[in-house]
Amino acid sequence: MSEPELPDHDEHADSGSPEGFYNTLLRCEWTEPHILAKFQENSVKKILQHAIRHVPYHRDRLGFLLDGNGNINLSRWLAVPTMSRPDVERNYQDLIAEEVPKSHGEVLTASTSASHGRPLVLKKTRLHDTAIACASFRHARTFDLDWARPLVLIRALAGRARRPSDTATAPPKWGPDWMDPEQRGERVRMSVHTPLARQIERLCEMGPTYLNTSPANAMALAAFVARHPEKRPAILALLTVGEYVSQDTRRECREHLGCELIDVFSTAECGVIATQCPEHGGYHMQPELTVLEILDQKGKPCRPGETGRITATPLYNYAMPLVRYQSEDYATVGGSCACGRPAPILSKVLGRSNHHFVLPDGRYVRPEPSSSELRQFIGFRRWQLVQTGTGQAEFRVSAGPGGDPLDAEAAEAYISSIIEGEFAVRVIRDAILGPTSGGKFASVLRDFGEHGEALANVG
Ligand SMILES: [Zn+2]
Repeated sequence: MSEPELPDHDEHADSGSPEGFYNTLLRCEWTEPHILAKFQENSVKKILQHAIRHVPYHRDRLGFLLDGNGNINLSRWLAVPTMSRPDVERNYQDLIAEEVPKSHGEVLTASTSASHGRPLVLKKTRLHDTAIACASFRHARTFDLDWARPLVLIRALAGRARRPSDTATAPPKWGPDWMDPEQRGERVRMSVHTPLARQIERLCEMGPTYLNTSPANAMALAAFVARHPEKRPAILALLTVGEYVSQDTRRECREHLGCELIDVFSTAECGVIATQCPEHGGYHMQPELTVLEILDQKGKPCRPGETGRITATPLYNYAMPLVRYQSEDYATVGGSCACGRPAPILSKVLGRSNHHFVLPDGRYVRPEPSSSELRQFIGFRRWQLVQTGTGQAEFRVSAGPGGDPLDAEAAEAYISSIIEGEFAVRVIRDAILGPTSGGKFASVLRDFGEHGEALANVG
């Protein structure tokens, strides 16, 4: 039997057709693993050739991948040094491609949310954005989302790349833009800093709607509805992005918002990296878009079951190619998925290392307190569990809505019972807890303060 041919992505870029790109992704979804691997290999070789030719930063760094005939030899891939955020900051100008193929569309400037203290500015192409959008559409399709329903996005609004469509007068729609606008639902954006009561009011006005927001904001909405069940909006599904999703978050959203959570792991630098499987809960890598590697502390690829640092090479950002870019996020390698899709899975996306506790034997663990259990002891107060030293933790609770109970002793006993290892837990009352300017909030954190590891408050 002959191999089914996958079209070249450039073909679609040349014709400027996001629909063509999307159809390519649909074809890749159920193809044979070796065909998918070949597709990725061709894309990697192309962007590496481009990077060596047109990006000063990569010229020497990647030159050794060329063989005597000027072809890319990927057997040397593991010798390519990784790069990280400080490398981008230090070498910003040298990372900008001197030229970008016309077929990749215009070059845009984007910046990450400011949760690290200052945003990271990046260049990207229109095609990179198209690829990410098409991967998101493919993911939505696997969950049978209905494009005709509205979508409310409650996110950090700063730092988005400006698009011509933002100034258009027609009401914005979501879903594939090659579809008839009549068949596409309204898209409404709100800031994640909007008071919860107003967020709920707007969601109720929308009728049955999808909601795209951070897991932390989803938790805050779930707690609000738990207190005011008469104000429960009709959320069809919750699309989360940008933070670790705990089982507690999934439980709370199911119980109080009445919806399931559909998660995508993506980063501002690299785009969509892995998407939740509709059948088995792991996260499928996106080999058509990104070379994803999970590396151990020595830089060796992790085997299934092992946890390591996420290292990504996005395949369509020809404006500022990032090659083996390491974020601060960790994931567990999962192998192949029982659903039959050829894209390998991450069994867990763990998020930032400082969102975990470290045990004296060096293991990273993530305590998973249950909000519904905690409600008996702290009511609807917001909480945060922080490792402050070896064997030391603080359980911080906010002042919370008036009249809520606070049984510090019982809360302390509960928290001690769910942390692995010996920990002295101290309850801190009236803590000021809320999202950062980037709209993120870590409910579990490791922060040894000035005298220990220098760790940012949240990733
Ligand atoms: Zn699967």
